[in-house]
Amino acid sequence: MSTADAHSHLPCQTVVELLTDYLEGALDPATCARVEHHLSLCPPCVTYLDQLRTTMELVGRLPADTLPPDALEELDAAFRGFHPPPAGP
Ligand SMILES: [Zn+2]
Repeated sequence: MSTADAHSHLPCQTVVELLTDYLEGALDPATCARVEHHLSLCPPCVTYLDQLRTTMELVGRLPADTLPPDALEELDAAFRGFHPPPAGP
């Protein structure tokens, strides 16, 4: 079972932007599969997902786009601390 196009590569930035919806179960199945495929290959994005999930739990049921600015800054700072995989040749 694979509805994801193996050739369509999601950049980390796109995955990060989708993770909130992913955690909320708001993604369509095809997009969800692409995000999960990326996560299976990209440990930094998994770490970001863990931090995002923790933050969402800390703020309760609020969606991430209503997070206080401080929390968003923390996530942003955390993401900058990661080392994305090389872009390739
Ligand atoms: Zn990634």
